[in-house]
Amino acid sequence: MTEKRFLDGYASFPYEKPFPFSRHSSIGCGGKARYAFYPQTEGQLVELVSRLRVDGIRYYTVGNLTNVLPPDNDIDAVLISTKRLLSAQAAATGLYVGAGVNSGMFLRLCKTYGLGGAEFFAGIPCTMGGALFMNAGAAGEYIAPLVGGVKVFDGKKIITLSPLECRYEYKKSVFMQEDLLILGGTLRLPEMQEEEMVKRTQYFMQKRAHLPKGKSMGCVFKNPPNGAAGKYIEGAGLKGLRIGGAHVSEKHANFIINDLGAKSSDIRALITFMKNAVLAQYNIRLEEEIRYIQ
Ligand SMILES: Cc1cc2nc3c(=O)[nH]c(=O)nc-3n(C[C@H](O)[C@H](O)[C@H](O)COP(=O)(O)OP(=O)(O)OC[C@H]3O[C@@H](n4cnc5c(N)ncnc54)[C@H](O)[C@@H]3O)c2cc1C
Repeated sequence: MTEKRFLDGYASFPYEKPFPFSRHSSIGCGGKARYAFYPQTEGQLVELVSRLRVDGIRYYTVGNLTNVLPPDNDIDAVLISTKRLLSAQAAATGLYVGAGVNSGMFLRLCKTYGLGGAEFFAGIPCTMGGALFMNAGAAGEYIAPLVGGVKVFDGKKIITLSPLECRYEYKKSVFMQEDLLILGGTLRLPEMQEEEMVKRTQYFMQKRAHLPKGKSMGCVFKNPPNGAAGKYIEGAGLKGLRIGGAHVSEKHANFIINDLGAKSSDIRALITFMKNAVLAQYNIRLEEEIRYIQ
């Protein structure tokens, strides 16, 4: 499809063109997507996705791009960012938040409604769409047990998945297996005194104090069943290991830091090296937590 015809059909949707991953992703590397669309309502998102499907245009859905590794080359797909789906509503069934609500906004909403239990989100740089997809969590607490339902667009209709249908496990969900666009989710949160919330927030923030600063994707690998991925990486002597513009953090071995204008290929090479070294030394196969954009 020519650029002119493409724009004729899609210019009514808020978009950015081009979309450089190096500027928008937390890891700070990668090529470009030709377009990123920012639907502001569910109706707009449904219309956009339906059109892209009819036109046979590949799309990739993103939130804050804090857990993804984009490729060095430009991608042959448009991005749909759900960052502007910002609705929020408190009901008897729980607090509904749109996929674009970020962790800071979410915690402010919780405070407004006197609802606790989600303080582990403090400092996680995510949107709720990304968190529901990834089953985000910290210090042993996860979003999955709080989920009352997740509203999705399956390409034909909007439906709400029950917690069971979300098939949550550690860093795993149905959204990794099926092509579903997350519009938002209802979270069931207990009432909590503000004092208790503040105490819990401080606890989780303190737990994060040791995390490395700089451009990263957070933890690169899931923890294997019997220990922390970082401990195995550290045990294999990989802290500080550098390939090109990226290195294994000295502070936390499960973080890769892009400090010198790394290419995505530098980071991929580090990931392969880390997996091979841990396999050779401990016979443990590390599995990526991060998601690759292809
Ligand atoms: C410094 C740092 C610290 C971090 N700390 C933590 C932590 O403590 N705990 C933790 O769990 N994670 C952590 N992360 C990782 C990351 O923030 C989480 O995984 C988060 O849930 C990703 O949210 P996002 O909005 O950035 O999603 P993205 O990175 O944009 O996307 C992640 C995945 O979700 C999919 N996705 C996003 N939105 C939608 C949608 N609306 N519909 C369908 N699919 C969607 C994408 O396709 C992609 O596969 C950290 C990352 C960084 C950089």
